[in-house]
Amino acid sequence: LMDLYMPLNWFGTYYRAIQKNFVDMENMFELLREDEEIVDAPGCAPLLTAGGAIEFSNVTFGYTPDKLVLRNVSFTVPAGKTIAIVGPSGAGKSTIMRLLFRFYDVQSGSISIDGQNIKLVQQQSLRKAIGVVPQDTVLFNNTIYYNIEYAKIGASADAVYEAARSADIHERILSFPDRYETKVGERGLRLSGGEKQRVAIARTLLKAPIIVLLDEATSALDTHTERNIQAALARVCANRTTIIVAHRLSTIIHADEILVLKEGTIVERGRHEELLQRDGGIYADMWQQQLKNLDAEQNANDSSESI
Ligand code: ATP
Repeated sequence: LMDLYMPLNWFGTYYRAIQKNFVDMENMFELLREDEEIVDAPGCAPLLTAGGAIEFSNVTFGYTPDKLVLRNVSFTVPAGKTIAIVGPSGAGKSTIMRLLFRFYDVQSGSISIDGQNIKLVQQQSLRKAIGVVPQDTVLFNNTIYYNIEYAKIGASADAVYEAARSADIHERILSFPDRYETKVGERGLRLSGGEKQRVAIARTLLKAPIIVLLDEATSALDTHTERNIQAALARVCANRTTIIVAHRLSTIIHADEILVLKEGTIVERGRHEELLQRDGGIYADMWQQQLKNLDAEQNANDSSESI
């Protein structure tokens, strides 16, 4: 009994860790083609994507019945547009992403993509339509080539290199001891936070989903790395419907709509300029705070450069 039970338990722990941290959901589903709660509706059809328009309609959800995490959340992301979700820790930002990926089913309300309720489509087709760039990317103990190709097993080598180029990591890989055959991960070459994020971007480019979910790293990257990664992120989001859990000022400014989430409710929404004009608004306050932090950081950089 012990022997049978152990691996299940291990998977369960891993599963919950990933659910909690929104880390590499896609990998998890591949590794663990099973979920206790979420099942395909009998005879359901695959998702037919058009432009990848997303609609949350009065979504209410709690992980446990006694504590709601999202309350009546409604928003739409038109095909090809980008929305940013901001708000304090624990507000429910990552939960919105997890629900779109159908990690859990909503308690009431509905989520649809191109007019189809995600509860009523084949999960595999749903997850094929969505690419995730997580905060922290888990690498397999395998070659860097495999780690990118993983997003689309059987892709041509040219497609893998092209994805790496667009993610600005191709040159870096060529500098590794065995180039694309270099082993990475826990037992291989350790990659930096920025490099791991580029691997995630390359994977997503190779997967070429219609929808991209981007969970921005809070603090893992230094300003220089961050600036360099912007171009690669822009390429992965271009012409795709995008939801970003945003921390960076640059992302927020360009979003088509910003949702400010607090305790599971959307408390402010609009474009950057609109939200800034609200005196005493939560967003306006957050913005002021971020500007101050950025100033402090730049001053620190300037003085270190002059030494
Ligand atoms: P952060 O910015 O810190 O990542 P967030 O806005 O993304 O926060 P969520 O991760 O969506 O917040 O969490 C919303 C609430 O749900 C929190 O109170 C959190 O403790 C709770 N929560 C998250 N995951 C689970 C889970 N698997 N089981 C129970 N409660 C959870």
